[in-house]
Amino acid sequence: MAKVYNWQLGRYMEYWYEEVRPRKQMAAVFDINKCIACQTCTMACKTTWTSGKGQEYMWWNNVETRPWGSFPMGWDSKLLNLLGPQEWVNGIYAGKTIFEAARPGERVLGNLPIDMDWAYPNRGEDETNEPIDEAKYYFSMPHSIWTFYLARVCNHCTYPACLAACPRTSIYKRPQDGIVLLDQQRCRGYRECVRACPYKKPMYNHETRISEKCLFCFPAVEQGNWPRCMRSCIGKIRMFGSIHTPDNIDPENPIDFLVHVKKVGLPLYPQFGTEPNVYYIPPIHVPATKFLQQMFGPNVQKAQETYNAMRNGEDPELQGILMLNVSTDRIFSKFRVTDKHAIGFDDNGSEVVRVNLNEPKVVRPFYDPKLGVYRHNIT
Ligand code: SF4
Ligand code: SF4
Repeated sequence: MAKVYNWQLGRYMEYWYEEVRPRKQMAAVFDINKCIACQTCTMACKTTWTSGKGQEYMWWNNVETRPWGSFPMGWDSKLLNLLGPQEWVNGIYAGKTIFEAARPGERVLGNLPIDMDWAYPNRGEDETNEPIDEAKYYFSMPHSIWTFYLARVCNHCTYPACLAACPRTSIYKRPQDGIVLLDQQRCRGYRECVRACPYKKPMYNHETRISEKCLFCFPAVEQGNWPRCMRSCIGKIRMFGSIHTPDNIDPENPIDFLVHVKKVGLPLYPQFGTEPNVYYIPPIHVPATKFLQQMFGPNVQKAQETYNAMRNGEDPELQGILMLNVSTDRIFSKFRVTDKHAIGFDDNGSEVVRVNLNEPKVVRPFYDPKLGVYRHNIT
């Protein structure tokens, strides 16, 4: 095992290969507060990549309701039980990662779902953490009774567990964009990647008898476009782009700004140790108790406070960048927020997208003499 640095853990950790970071790492930030579980992202991915034979139960993008939903069933709770204590001390992870907790003879601590675990992608949908007895629970923030939607894709991890576990070296991480791909010519279907990935994002095809996984729509990314699930997001929860390490931050880069500068974008289960590259703005209506802390790490409460301050009008820059979510199909690497607009620029400094911070307000007359009609709802 090599010693590699994982900035999400604040420490070095053991990994199967030496630390080799890509020249560029594509990443995303999902604002959980905006997701409406419409599953448009899920269907955009399904119709693009997994509508063939043997892919019937594959959802490379899925959206599950927390706390009860999970696809495949119990993907996180089973591993969290195996992993043991997951304490953080002064922002540094003091427990074991899935690489450090591997059993003798294994490269990664994992578990292989049974076939039925893949059969119920919407299990637990809209089920709250407690039964709702009286509507009064909803008159305060955060709610004592809650639910939230967790949209999930492959995290194109910096230290992929799928890659570490593959005995055929079929899985590789591209140096130009950090996208993790599975070579289907080399794969023999041993399912070690499925067992090892803590997020359970490689999936086995029973027809072809080899494994497959989300590929961040790399043909689109190569053309400078967003992946399908990201660009089709109805709730505009998603930001897509590249991320730097904390020692090399570009504050004008949208992902760096959300993750490193404002620290509202948090990794999902950082304690697993793969350094995932999809980040989440945690739900502000959910108390920052152990459930959220275990899911998003020790900075949940701070992220909620920053987000709430933005909602109170105290952070126009953060408000502006979030208005650029899903505002274009094109990848932009820099942004600027003015009094009136949020603007995105590509690598050459050319403007890619511009959105108004405030939409013009049109007040129409109660009586329209041209049409001869009255309007009751006139703003
Ligand atoms: S999320 Fe899973 S499949 Fe994707 S790169 Fe990480 S370990 Fe591999
Ligand atoms: S399309 Fe967007 S809003 Fe709809 S479920 Fe997917 S992530 Fe959520």
